[in-house]
Parts: sequence; structure tokens; C-alpha cells
Amino acid sequence: MSTAKNLFSGRILVDNLVPYPRMADKDREALRMIVEATDQFLEPRHADFKSWDRDAEQPPQFIQGLRELGLFGLIIPEEHGGLGLSNAGYARVLAQTSRHDSSVSLTIGAHSSIGMKGILMFGTDAQKARYLPRLARGEMIAAFCLTESSAGSDAASIRTHAQRNADGSWTLNGEKIWITNGGIADLYTVFARTESDAGKITAFIVEAKWPGVAHGKHEDKMGIRASSTTTVSFADVRVPAESVLDAEGKGFKVAMAILNNGRTGLGGGSVGGMKTVLALATEHARARRQFGRSIGEYDLVKEKIAQMTVDCFAAESAVWMVAHYIDSGFDDYSVEAAISKVFATEAMQRSAYEGLQIAGGSGFMRDYPYEQITRDSRILTIFEGTNEVLRLYIALSGLKDLGRSLGELKFALDDIFNHPIKGFGVMGDYAEKRLTQATGIGRDRISTHMPSSLRDACEVYEKYTLELAKTCDFCLRRYGKAIADRQFELKRIADIAIDLFVGLCTLARAASNSAADPKDTQSIAIANIFAQQTKRRMANNIRRITRNEDDSIRALADHILDAGGYPWDVL
Ligand SMILES: Cc1cc2nc3c(=O)[nH]c(=O)nc-3n(C[C@H](O)[C@H](O)[C@H](O)COP(=O)(O)OP(=O)(O)OC[C@H]3O[C@@H](n4cnc5c(N)ncnc54)[C@H](O)[C@@H]3O)c2cc1C
Repeated sequence: MSTAKNLFSGRILVDNLVPYPRMADKDREALRMIVEATDQFLEPRHADFKSWDRDAEQPPQFIQGLRELGLFGLIIPEEHGGLGLSNAGYARVLAQTSRHDSSVSLTIGAHSSIGMKGILMFGTDAQKARYLPRLARGEMIAAFCLTESSAGSDAASIRTHAQRNADGSWTLNGEKIWITNGGIADLYTVFARTESDAGKITAFIVEAKWPGVAHGKHEDKMGIRASSTTTVSFADVRVPAESVLDAEGKGFKVAMAILNNGRTGLGGGSVGGMKTVLALATEHARARRQFGRSIGEYDLVKEKIAQMTVDCFAAESAVWMVAHYIDSGFDDYSVEAAISKVFATEAMQRSAYEGLQIAGGSGFMRDYPYEQITRDSRILTIFEGTNEVLRLYIALSGLKDLGRSLGELKFALDDIFNHPIKGFGVMGDYAEKRLTQATGIGRDRISTHMPSSLRDACEVYEKYTLELAKTCDFCLRRYGKAIADRQFELKRIADIAIDLFVGLCTLARAASNSAADPKDTQSIAIANIFAQQTKRRMANNIRRITRNEDDSIRALADHILDAGGYPWDVL
């Protein structure tokens, strides 16, 4: 049962949140050793990271060092030569590498989170035996090839195609763009169009050394400059039949499953980056004196430091909860994974911005790390699903599931995300039933599982979970199937769901921290601050469902789109 999707029906699944998951002692020990070894390797190379950022390269000797540390085998099971880390352990290691350099995290993350994840999740025994040991040793580095020049967010519209040959093999043609690790990978997970009754897209394992496979030049990027990003092209590449991942026609499902499963990598990386910024900002705020005092003594600087801390704690709480869901074998975690990615990546960007602001002019100088962190973090809300598209996904998945719980809506709501116009046809007496449900009679209350110091925060989430259900009711009644195109409403619904899920994770973690260490009063304070902030945001989002200037905004944007830019001047 998905915690996030149930919020849309007014239900908090307390058992999925409390107690907050703790890492097993033996995993903690193993992880500590990996983290220490990683620090020892990366810490002395900070000057190199800066120059590799300028030169846009990651030297082969450095990649060799990553191999020797075992960083390409983090999530590959021990039986195949990897370290066999859980999703939570993996996210924790990426948090650590991100504290040093984002490009390093990208190289490791694109390999593990998405590049070879398809083999782990869908590979046959033969595919696993053939590739996983080499991938674990880093003898083969992997990349994920989905995006094309005309297919970004709309990934289902790819044109790369594979034609089946008489002997069962395939001939692959097409070009992928902006592929992380494109220039250093030995193995690509490639998505290609293969029209058949089974579906339109198929996933293939393709080796870089096969004739017809080529990559373009290293892209000159704004951030994560040292990480390899290239085009990857396929010209009449013969792909053996046994290189199909999962089954013919199942490629879109494979791509989405990989991306859902990999989102904690970006979340973990964001958390690590936030910790670095906070450490830098704290040090600067203590040392820098203006008007006779250290700037950390001024409220407007304190406000930034506190907000960065709240954001980091909240993001960390959500990311590790989602990683725990994945590790515990939950099937349905895609909405929670999307929420954790959206929240953590935006929190990281806010932290980068505020950290640089605390550093003042120094933050703008290339001698200091802030400008690189700001550039590096900019991509986070764009790749592995833009945050706009993920917000639509969060809202529509929740609405779809909500409708599914009611028999008479079952058929109308199927496939709403992929085929919006099919959905939301039959409303029946839906509204009445939903309102009854939304009053919350018989629900489990999270407040009964929390210390009294968190009762007010619990009340916020209990109240707004019901408000979310009522808001969804209202929107479904008002817009019917047209809800799929009501992006302003969907964004507000998604933002409420994000605040609720992240807030509940924060609450659960604060309660667990304070139970383990009664002297830790700050975790409770963070959960309470976050609850009050989300309360204001959620109230605003709910109010703006009915009281807004959406029509004017839409009309203004249309006017500017028609005009081709800003049409006024003072001349
Ligand atoms: C550095 C880098 C590394 C990357 N690595 C990889 C990789 O390893 N493998 C891979 O396959 N791809 C990779 N990508 C591609 C990345 O995943 C895409 O850039 C991303 O999916 C967005 O696609 P797009 O850039 O074409 O933007 P578009 O899809 O054109 O979107 C442009 C804007 O329109 C918005 N938008 C689009 N559709 C909608 C909608 N329906 N409603 C509202 N808003 C919408 C988007 O949110 C965005 O703001 C990488 C990209 C970069 C820049």
C-alpha cells in the first residue's frame, strides 16, 4: 500500500511511517568503512575537482581509482562480485561522494542508478552472469540511453528503432543525446522503438565495442562539467536476440521502473550536497565579521542557516524512508520516489543559492566552491524526470488511485497518465462517498504514535490529509476528465502531497531521534518548524484551487507567446 497515494484518500498509513526505519548495525559498520575509504580517496583531490571542472574532464587514472575502491559495484550482489549494498546504503554513499564533487557522484550514479539497473531488475540469469561481475569491477561502465533530440520528457516518442532479423537478432539505428557516461561507457541500456502487439518500445543491452556504436564529443556544460555527457549513436548495429531486457515491447515499463528505483540516488546526492553547503556556510558565518559582529549573529543569516538545516533534515528523512520502502520490497513506491526527488533536488538548489548568499561576494568568486555547487546543482531538477513532469505524475497517480478505490470509477480512471482523455468519465455518486471518507471517521491517527511535543505538528498533517482528499474530490467533481489538463490545480495538489509526505517522514524521524536520545530537542524543533511552514503552504495551495488568477496568467502567457517576447518599452 502506497503511503503517498493513500494521502489522496484522506488516509495516513501510520504503519508505513512509524517507527522510522533504522539501519541494521551490521550494515552500518560496512557502510562506515566504505564511507571512510571514499573520504580518504576523495578528500585530497578537491583541487583536482576544481581544475577538472574547468577542463571538463575526469582523467582515466581517477576513474581507475573509483574502480579500485569498488564504487562501481555498490549495489551489485556479492555473488556477482559487488558490495551488495541496499538502496539506503547506496544512497548514503552517494550522499558522501556528493559532499566532495557532484561529477564523481554522476559518474557512479549514472552507472548504478540507471545504466546497469535494468540488468539487476530485469536481467536473465545469463545476462546477469555475463555482465554483472564486470560491471561490479568497473571493467564495464554503464550508461542509460533514453533521451533523443525530439524525445525528452515525452520519452515514449523516441525514434531510435530496432528491426528484427530473420535469425532473431535485431538491427538498431538511431541517436541518443546527453547521455551521462556516454563517452566512457562500455555498456548501454538502450530504448528503441519495436512496434509489435506486445508494445512499442523495447530495452536492449548494447556493448560499446559492437560495430556501428559510436559516441560524440564531450558536451560543454554549465555544471557537472567533468562528468561525461555525449551523444551515442547506433548505425546498423547488430544486437543479439539475447540482449533484449525483460521482453519485447516492455521497454517503456522497464525505463520507468529503472528511473523510479534510481531516484533515491539523486535524493541521496542532494542531501550530501546540502551538508557540504551547510558546513561551508556555517564556517563562513562564524568567521566573517561585519559591523563589529560575526554575520552569524544576525537574524537574516540565522534564518538561512536554520532553513537550510530544516530542508536538509526533511529531504534526508524522505529519501531514507523511500529507500527503506524499496529495500523492504514495497511494489508501489513510484509516487514517494518522485516526491523525494522533487523535494530533495529543490532543497539542494535553495541551499546552494542561500549558501552563496551568505558568502556574499566571495561566493561569486571562482576561488570559492559556492559557484560550482550552484552550477552543479542546477541540473538536478531537469534530468531523471523534470520536476514539472514529476509533479504532474504525483498528482495524477494519486487521483487515479483515489478513483480506483471506487468501483464505478475503475474503468474511467485507468491509464489516466498516459491517456488522459480516457479517464475521469464516470463520476456517479462518487463525490458523496468521498466526502464521507474525507471526514476521517475510523482513520488511524498518527498523533497517537507521537510524543506530546509533536502533537501540534501531527494535527497539521492529519487536518491537511483530509483537506487534500476534499480538494481532490472537488477537482474531480468540477473538472471530470479535464483534470488531466488542469496543470495549475495538479501542481497545487502535488505540492500538498509533497508537503504531507515529506512532513510525515520528518515527524517520524524526529520522534525516533528523540526516543533514542532525549537530549536531542532540535530534531523535534525541526519537525515543528517544518509543520508550521507546510501548514501555511498547504493552506495557500488549497485556497488557490478556487481563488486564483489562473485564467489571467494563462491569457497573459498566450499573449506573450504570440508576441514572441516582452512587447513593452519605455522609449
Ligand atoms: C547533463 C545531462 C545529463 C543527462 N543524462 C541523461 C542520461 O544519462 N540518459 C538519458 O536518457 N537522458 C539524459 N539526459 C536527458 C534528460 O533526462 C532530459 O533533459 C530531461 O528528460 C528533459 O527533457 P528535455 O531536456 O528534452 O526537456 P523537455 O522535455 O523539452 O522540457 C522542457 C521544459 O518543458 C517542460 N515540460 C515538458 N513537458 C511538459 C508537460 N507535459 N507539462 C508541463 N511542462 C512540460 C519541462 O518540465 C521543462 O521545463 C540528460 C540531460 C542533461 C542536461
